[in-house]
Amino acid sequence: MLAEISVDLDAIRTNIAALANLVAPARVAGVIKANAYGHGLIEVGCAIEACVDRICVYELAEAVALRDAGVGGRIHILGPVAPVDLEVAHAVNAEISLWDRGTYAAQVASTARRRRAPMAVQVKIDTGVARLGLGIDAAPAALLRYAAQPEFRIAGVFSHLAAAEELDSTFTRDQLATFARATADFDPTVERHIAASAAAMLWPQTRLGAIRAGIAIYGIWPSRPTEAIMRERGLTLVPALSWRTRIVVVREVPAETPVGYGCTYRTTRASRIGVLPIGYAEGLPRSLSNRGAVLVGGQRVPIVGRVCMNMTFVDLTGVPQANTHSVVTLIGSDGSERIDAEEAAGWADTIGYELVTRLPAHVPRRYDRNVPAAIEAPARS
Ligand SMILES: *Cc1c(COP(=O)(O)O)cnc(C)c1O
Repeated sequence: MLAEISVDLDAIRTNIAALANLVAPARVAGVIKANAYGHGLIEVGCAIEACVDRICVYELAEAVALRDAGVGGRIHILGPVAPVDLEVAHAVNAEISLWDRGTYAAQVASTARRRRAPMAVQVKIDTGVARLGLGIDAAPAALLRYAAQPEFRIAGVFSHLAAAEELDSTFTRDQLATFARATADFDPTVERHIAASAAAMLWPQTRLGAIRAGIAIYGIWPSRPTEAIMRERGLTLVPALSWRTRIVVVREVPAETPVGYGCTYRTTRASRIGVLPIGYAEGLPRSLSNRGAVLVGGQRVPIVGRVCMNMTFVDLTGVPQANTHSVVTLIGSDGSERIDAEEAAGWADTIGYELVTRLPAHVPRRYDRNVPAAIEAPARS
């Protein structure tokens, strides 16, 4: 095994409990789209089912996979479900996101009639992201129209915020007010929800009936300012994911040795260059070429040269004990040193969300605890 991702499911459950405590009485939906942000859809879904009010996914295939794995609770599909897939969505008892788009609502209704039971729908209103949802002018009438149709069971009405990470955002206040206006005449017993992780933490007035928490349940902060404010207020999140590999080869090279494609790095002294068996095909961003660091022997060592498709170089000169088979931590702790997903993402000019969701599904995940050095040393002959 060339690399391994280990996921602490207890950490995810701990984070959900902390969020639930923070936002109560609002309910918590756990968002596990994008392979549970790289943590593993099925394992995370099964692990959190009992501690969330419901699960949110992006597409129907995820809902089907969760049902096949035995997840029986509520599942809300946030993204579009194609008309040809409505039968399956109904059959797996998923809640689909509904907004008028041509004849879509009629197709949903006819599916429900064919299957002789209402379709559970979450009505989506666009209040300012300009993405999915009913326009705010059309929303009030559409809500009443949907409610009058026996083919629909309205499980909720929701929207999404565009600027929730800003602490003093007029835009967020406007979106909230717009959402309240658009839903003012609608049955008040139907749950409203608008907040994802950042809003749920920073903006109590956005919590409404439920929050949809994604990134925070994995112990990754939506942004540095959010982290600073919430740590100050006493909220702790436990990072759930670690990512490790082992050094394949150590090369002792003299000063002035070019390293890797394009010779973008030249050693400035006699150096020990370690080769890692993973590269951008395994999820290590190529933008980390000559930037960023990994942990070896409890110390930070720099990435040097270009990140290749399946290989990466690090400068081990400062860690004389490092050798072939030494464990390399890309995300996680080694001794007292730690690299968080947010930090590694920052070096790559991206956000923690993108770094973890791009960890390929083919990299094995390990879910058992008490496994200190994730990957096994290869058998030596
Ligand atoms: C992804 C997503 C969320 C979760 O966002 P986080 O910032 O990860 O908490 C919530 N709602 C919708 C509509 C989403 O697409």
